[in-house]
Order: sequence, then C-alpha cells, then structure tokens
Amino acid sequence: MGKGIDYPHYMHAVVPYAGRLAPSPTGLLHLGHARTFWVAYERAQQAQGTLWLRNEDLDGQRARPEFVDAMREDLTWLGIRWQDELIQSERLRAYREALDQLLAADAIFPCTCSRKDLQQALAAPHEDNDDEPIYNGRCRQQAGSTFQPGVNYRFRVPDGERIRFNDLHCGTQSFVAGSGPGADFGDFLVWRKDGLPSYQLACVVDDAFQQITEVVRGRDLLKSTARQILLQRALQLPTPAYLHTDLMRDHAGVRLAKRHDALSLRSLRESGMTAEQLRALF
Ligand code: GLU
Ligand code: ZN
Repeated sequence: MGKGIDYPHYMHAVVPYAGRLAPSPTGLLHLGHARTFWVAYERAQQAQGTLWLRNEDLDGQRARPEFVDAMREDLTWLGIRWQDELIQSERLRAYREALDQLLAADAIFPCTCSRKDLQQALAAPHEDNDDEPIYNGRCRQQAGSTFQPGVNYRFRVPDGERIRFNDLHCGTQSFVAGSGPGADFGDFLVWRKDGLPSYQLACVVDDAFQQITEVVRGRDLLKSTARQILLQRALQLPTPAYLHTDLMRDHAGVRLAKRHDALSLRSLRESGMTAEQLRALF
C-alpha cells in the first residue's frame, strides 16, 4: 500500500478476499495443520485480504483453554498473522437461529436413534477416515417443525443427487447424497442432543457470517464440503471458493492428524527448529 494513502475499499477487487484459520483446540497443532494454515495465510496475503482466526471450541468434551493459548502462540511463532478472531462457543444464538430456519423449511428431522440403532445400520465398515457414517434413514419421516430439546437433528439430503464443486487444488469433485448404494454421504447431523450444533452447521453459519470468500483446509474435509453446500442452499447462503490441501503423512504413511507426538509444532520448536526450517518441510 502506498505511503500515507488510505485506499478506499472500492480500489480493491469487488469482493475483498476473506479467509479463515479454523483450528479445534483439542490438541497441539502439528506439522500437518501448520502446512494448511500456511497456505491459507499466503493466499490471504497474496490477495491482500483479511484472515480470521476461528476458534472451533464447541467440542465441550475435548476442547481445552490451554490448547487455545497454545494454538495462538504456535501460529504466531510460525509467522502467521490474522486480523480478527471469532470464538464459536460465543455464537450459540446464531446457530440456534439457523436451526430454526432449517426447521421452518422442513429441511431437517429429529433423529431418536440410539447409538445401538446407528451401529447396526453401519453394515459395511465404510470409511478410510473418521468421516460420519451413512445414516440409514430410519427417522427420516419424523415430523417436527418445533424445536425439541434433547434430540439429535439430521439434514434430509436429496436422495441420489450428485453434488459437484470445483476445488482450487483438487479439481472437480462430485459426491452422491442419500442412503442407497453408491451414496457417499447420508442424512448428516446438524444438531446434537446435548444442545450444540454439529461442525457442519456451525461452519456454514460462520463462513457466511464472516463473509469468507475462500475456504482453505485439509482434503479430509472434501466430503464435508458437499454437505455444507447443501446446507448453504437450504439456508440461502452463498458458497465460497474451496481449496483443500493435501494431507501430510509420516514415513509409515500415517496421517499426521492421527499423531500427537514429536511432530507437534511445540515439540519441533523445543527441539531447536526455527520457523523457517519448519516451513521448508512443507
Ligand atoms: N476445525 C476443523 C479441523 O480442525 C477445521 C474445519 C474447517 O476448516 O472447516 O479439522
Ligand atoms: Zn434416527
């Protein structure tokens, strides 16, 4: 930017770039996170856009304040800067409003399946990762236009519809919604009986609220993007651009996200590595 000149917004692109870093404070950030967040940071820099830190602390069981401090510290050490911060646990009202909108649109249904029902429905061991299993549709026809506390709610996906999107790194993607053969994902959770939104709902509500123009995250979330596109459609929210980064694996081929040891940024830093040396590993 020119010295002393305060460029008004209209001098930039029509829609200014906004990205986000969305770590879950459930553990220490490791090398894999660092790489994805570094890409997100560079994209925002190149576009002269803004970057948000979104603290995805809704998992009351696993999220811990010490990990929130650690992630801020580790990201800063790595050389990443962000402009503003959003804390999901302070946004429950917004998520509830979105849920009410979905209820009014008859886009979701209460699911009273027990853990056992769900396990039985899981006939074939399905996924290569920890992705949500395909729901068998047992409660699909349950009506419920008023909110019932203490039950799960699922999004009723359009059976057999193929959801397509273009990923800026992985290319054209397509996933089939439904519960029949060939489906990639089924009626997914939007609200949990403990009173919290699912990751899918909170993410879509916040991406819209923060006016995110480009989502940069790991490619383990490609299928979640298809789910989120359906939620955006139902909530009449815009769909941002997506860029899913490759996952880093260790020498044995294990995804780094599955490891909580020596490859945390903290341990690498404590072992004497500089941020520059670490970035060279990307
Ligand atoms: N909090 C999520 C994770 O750490 C990332 C969600 C996202 O970027 O949409 O896996
Ligand atoms: Zn059910």
